[in-house]
Amino acid sequence: MSRSFGLHRHMYMGEEAPSVAVTWGQLRRVLRYFTPYWPQWVAILLCIAAMSGMGVIPPLLVRDILDDAIPNKNAHLLHLLVGAIVGLTIVSGLIGVLQSWLSTRVGQGIMDDLRNQLYRHLQSQSLGFYTTERAGEIVSRVNNDVGAVHQVASGTIVDIARNAMTLVATLVAMLSLNVWLTVLAIAVVPTFYLPTRIVGRIRHRLSRQTQEQYAELVAFMEERLNIGGMVLSKIFGRVDSEADQFAERSRGVADLNVKQAMAGRWLFMCLAVFSVAGPALIYLYGGHQAIKGALSIGTLIAFVALLTNLYRPVGQLANVYVNLQGALAVFERIFEYLDRRPDVKDRADATELVQVRGEIRFEDVTFEYPRAPRLAADGADETAVAAGRPALKDVSFEIAAGERVALVGPSGAGKTTVTYLIPRFYDPTAGRILLDGHDLRDVTQESLREHMGVVTQDTFLFHTSVRENLLYARPEATEEELVAAARSANIHDFISGLPEGYATVVGERGFRLSGGEKQRLAIARALLKDPKILILDEATSHLDATSEHLIQEALEVLLEGRTSITIAHRLSTVLNADKIVVLNEGRVVEVGSHKELLRNDGLYADLFDRQFGDAIEYAEAANGEARASE
Ligand code: ATP
Repeated sequence: MSRSFGLHRHMYMGEEAPSVAVTWGQLRRVLRYFTPYWPQWVAILLCIAAMSGMGVIPPLLVRDILDDAIPNKNAHLLHLLVGAIVGLTIVSGLIGVLQSWLSTRVGQGIMDDLRNQLYRHLQSQSLGFYTTERAGEIVSRVNNDVGAVHQVASGTIVDIARNAMTLVATLVAMLSLNVWLTVLAIAVVPTFYLPTRIVGRIRHRLSRQTQEQYAELVAFMEERLNIGGMVLSKIFGRVDSEADQFAERSRGVADLNVKQAMAGRWLFMCLAVFSVAGPALIYLYGGHQAIKGALSIGTLIAFVALLTNLYRPVGQLANVYVNLQGALAVFERIFEYLDRRPDVKDRADATELVQVRGEIRFEDVTFEYPRAPRLAADGADETAVAAGRPALKDVSFEIAAGERVALVGPSGAGKTTVTYLIPRFYDPTAGRILLDGHDLRDVTQESLREHMGVVTQDTFLFHTSVRENLLYARPEATEEELVAAARSANIHDFISGLPEGYATVVGERGFRLSGGEKQRLAIARALLKDPKILILDEATSHLDATSEHLIQEALEVLLEGRTSITIAHRLSTVLNADKIVVLNEGRVVEVGSHKELLRNDGLYADLFDRQFGDAIEYAEAANGEARASE
């Protein structure tokens, strides 16, 4: 069992959420992010110590003014003391600026380290992670939670240190003035310490709920405020209901913020009441002492001035527990992602694939998609595997180097899944996939993917220029190579006709281009990469004859001299394929050439007839008419 501080982490849904103990191990893990900045921390602590020390001196100087300079009519001493008060305030202010600069830099540094670590880690996740997590949630963690780390590092921790040091310095100064008055001052502490603590806890809970509701609001917006979401909501006439849902969430955030602000008001009210009670008692007791001549006026005034220095830090330290808890919870949310082990990892002894011929072999490959992660009882991630049927079952087939393979099968047969396994977007659950005799799991992902090109139905383009989008495949490509690839993909003329040619910026997801144009751009991008193995997911949408022809020509150039695996939707693809792999319900049911498979009269013949029968009949009829008219 790991030791716990009794600090507990509030999990998601606020009040009723289970608390999880924060262990030494977790705290050590948080501290590891702070240690590279230890020289700055030392400097910050020295600054705080200096400021705390200086903070208690002015009241003592006031005492000397009242008890010494004025009664003794010593103008020189008066000037000196007033000058010292002003000087101390200026020096303390300057140290404060230095300390803010240091702590902001450290906070930003830690935040930067974490953000980069998290981004890298998110990049190493397999596709499974992105299909199971909400995009808004991922962005929110990188943005808000990592942002909150800055607040922890440059706010919470510095505040705790400042309050603790101020408290110690003030107590020392008070004791040096009068022991009994100090005892009296401390006696009042519990009366405002307890309410402050309670209010602090309420505020903390509210702030956690606000954060969660806000993340929910952001995720909602991310899903809807983009082209896909907008098209969907307009087409299905959901604009008003979406606005209502948004309003409800937004109101939730607003209400919580109001509650939080009001809880703050309670805190201030409590503090105001009790911070009057302290000085009142001091004046009462101290006043009597002064009347008796046992206490000087200067000491009494200095003591009351020091009281604020005592009560303010005590009030703030009352919430050190919840503040620390909140700070650790921020790290915890980030650790939840960092602890998510990528499903696809390079082996320690993985080799680099330098050259490939392009021979692929599936050996009894079974694959189940990972299920959405659950949070286990101990807060650790558990990526369970779907209990349903696997997407692929005992799939075996071979692709010779340079061969063109078409994948055919009904919807949901597993065609896309096959294409995901080849670049190792996922690893098989059982069986293995070999490339030129190497098990894919024995080579590094990067070197494997270097030899692969993917052209999908839904071409993704970044919101940048056409040139930048093409160069994404090979940043070092020359302008000539770029133009040559675009020419081969039948897209050069189109690009040249754009207002700014290759510098034209394509919209989010390339929405300003037509489907056919985007595809040809994707083909040009793949040509520029010049991979040995190509994975193609042909568009199901039917393009007009000209566009179809342009793409067909471009594809011919692209496929030349490469191993290719195509999810076939075009007649020409199946006719030109060297081999057709027919999948059904995750299994390979037939493999062969078009002619062989037609002769088999199995699923392929059936599918072919249904998908292309009309087209062939139409073509034959057209041919017949042409012959008749000759
Ligand atoms: P289509 O022609 O309709 O695109 P497909 O043959 O490409 O279909 P796949 O996308 O490979 O089929 O899907 C095979 C099976 O795996 C389907 O039953 C599908 O529901 C399931 N599946 C696909 N993606 C996931 C995923 N991310 N998580 C869980 N199951 C999935």
